Formats: sequence, C-alpha cells, structure tokens
Amino acid sequence: MSYDFNSKIGIVTGGGKGIGKGITSLLATLGAKVYVFGRSSLAEGTQFSDDEEINNRIIYINVDVSDFNEVQLAIDKIKSESGRIDFLVNNAGITKDNLLLRMSETDWDTVMNINLKGAFNTCKAASKVMMSQRSGRIINIGSIVGTTGNAGQSNYSASKAGMIGFTKSLAKELGSRNILVNLIAPGFIETDMTAKLSEEQLKSFVDNIPLKRSGLPVDIAKVVAFFISDDSNYVTGQVLHVDGGLAI
Ligand code: NDP
Repeated sequence: MSYDFNSKIGIVTGGGKGIGKGITSLLATLGAKVYVFGRSSLAEGTQFSDDEEINNRIIYINVDVSDFNEVQLAIDKIKSESGRIDFLVNNAGITKDNLLLRMSETDWDTVMNINLKGAFNTCKAASKVMMSQRSGRIINIGSIVGTTGNAGQSNYSASKAGMIGFTKSLAKELGSRNILVNLIAPGFIETDMTAKLSEEQLKSFVDNIPLKRSGLPVDIAKVVAFFISDDSNYVTGQVLHVDGGLAI
C-alpha cells in the first residue's frame, strides 16, 4: 500500500492482538502515530514490526473501553500530548456465546458494554476533538453477524447490529464537520477469537465462503487504511462487508 499517513495521529482500540494488531501494524508502517487501547499489560510489550522506527510510532495505553471515565482520561492525554486525533478505529470486541436460554444476564451486559458502549465512549470523547479540528475518520469494526444474525450469538450479533445504527447516526450528526464514519463488517478472520471454534465449525465456515479461504487481519487493515485515506473522502455511513463473500 502506498498511502502516506506520516502526519496522521489516531487510536486503535484492542490494537494489541488479532485484527487490531494487523490494523495498528499497517497504519504505523504507513507512517501514522497510533495509540493502542487495551486491557492486558502483556500487550504493552507487543512487537508490531521488526523495524524499531515503526514500533516507536505505537503507544500503548491501558484502557478498558467500557469504562467511560478511563476512555475520557486517555483521550485527554492524547489531546494534550499530540494535539489532534485524525482517526479512531473501534476494534475492541469480545464474544460470550450461548443459546439465549442459557445466556446469563452478565454475559449479555459484558458484551454490550465492551462492544457497543465501548464505541459510544470512544466516539463521544474523540469526536469532540475531531469537531474542533473539523476533520476526522471513525471506523467501527462490526461483524457480518450484525446483519445476518447467528444462533448462539444473540448478544454479540445485537451489539454489532447496534454498531450499524450508531455508525449511520454519527455519519449524519458529524458529516457537516467533515467527520466521516463507516463500519467494516469482517467475516471469518483468523485470530484468537476464531481459534475458539471447533474444527467442524471452521470447516463449515470456509465451505460457505465464496473465496474459499478465511481472511487475515491484513485484509481488514487495508480497508481501514482506505477509510482513513483521501480515497474515501466522499464515503460516509457505509457498511462494508470484508468477508470473502460469506454474507452474500
Ligand atoms: P481478539 O480476541 O483477537 O482481540 C480482541 C481485542 O480487543 C484484544 O486486543 C483485546 O485486548 C481487546 N479488548 C477486549 N475487551 C476490551 C476492553 N474492554 N477494553 C479494551 N480492549 C479490549 O479479537 P479479533 O481480533 O478477532 O476481533 C477484533 C474485532 O473484530 C472485534 O470487534 C470482533 O468482534 C471483530 N470481528 C472479528 C471476526 C473474526 O473472525 N476474528 C469476525 C467479525 C468481527 P485485551 O485482551 O488487552 O483487553
């Protein structure tokens, strides 16, 4: 990819592993300074690249995205340290799968609080900075199950469907300030999250993908880069499935 993000500063939530790590690595490789929000102190020592110059552009901040005050404090810190926020990628997400009858109230609330309220927390704090600079890009990471639904994932699917309505509403609210808000809906991407699936589930997923392969974090990262770049200057409020055709 040939985008030049040298002057760009932004945030990737859950950027320490999986899809988020792929996004962080690509954006930093393209020159951006990336603040990573995550909870695990292990992520603090994550090597994103063999190139130290690229690693030095990545700053880890211990933040639980579901905690309104922690998010606000982290964004205040970025504003005072770096002066601006050009992009926010809401990637942090979890699953707590179960059939509805067996799903606990806690599992419902935890998934909603991280996946959906987490995006509210970060967007509320970061959009204030973006509004004052009259520019910004917000990219929410949803999921194909936000449109298709999935048995055993009612909490997760509802949180991802909620992100679609949230994305479209913010696109309408923030468009006049030149803040573009879009959602990427990944299909089956190889990460720790999908490593929980059984061999049988895995096979049935891949069998149903028209491109006959699972995706890689970089497949999502490249589309994030497009949404941050000037190539998407007239695109907002969109849901883009990046899934090898799985949701067709
Ligand atoms: P992983 O489980 O590999 O990574 C999830 C990331 O989210 C981790 O870095 C984790 O950091 C972070 N995270 C979780 N909870 C919080 C929290 N409360 N505060 C801050 N960070 C948090 O997941 P994936 O990379 O697979 O998924 C990334 C996103 O893509 C998710 O939103 C997921 O729903 C979505 N997605 C993934 C698909 C796939 O096939 N993998 C398919 C469709 C959508 P830490 O451990 O430090 O808290």
